[in-house]
Amino acid sequence: MRIGNPGSSEAIEMGCMCPPTANNYGQGNVFYVDQNCPIHGSKPATDKELDRIGKIRRMATQDYLSSREIGRQLGVSHTTVCNTLNRLNVVNKTKRAIKCAGCGKTVSKYRSEIKRRKKIFCGKPCYNRWQLLRIDK
Ligand SMILES: [Zn+2]
Ligand SMILES: [Zn+2]
Repeated sequence: MRIGNPGSSEAIEMGCMCPPTANNYGQGNVFYVDQNCPIHGSKPATDKELDRIGKIRRMATQDYLSSREIGRQLGVSHTTVCNTLNRLNVVNKTKRAIKCAGCGKTVSKYRSEIKRRKKIFCGKPCYNRWQLLRIDK
């Protein structure tokens, strides 16, 4: 298997964690290697692990599957998927339909955002109205 230079797009595609900008996207003469990089680091991952990292990355960034769904399809734990995505700096962009806590309109929001906030609003007006009501009480 041909391995791209640290920070190059081919390497990143495979799970490289070396800094792309510092490595001039793999075009540099001197390379900065992240020791945790599964490809160029001190403990390189096996082909099997690299294959899994690549799949997880693709499923999250191209198929927009949730980490749970990825885990189910690959037969690995949800935690493994989350850890891999964190290490790759990949934000799970899966969107989910959820009702606005103000007007009840259905909006689609990133899962990460839904997790972070207790209530989801369709927009500023609904959020502001809820804030005012809450202060009134
Ligand atoms: Zn690397
Ligand atoms: Zn609303």
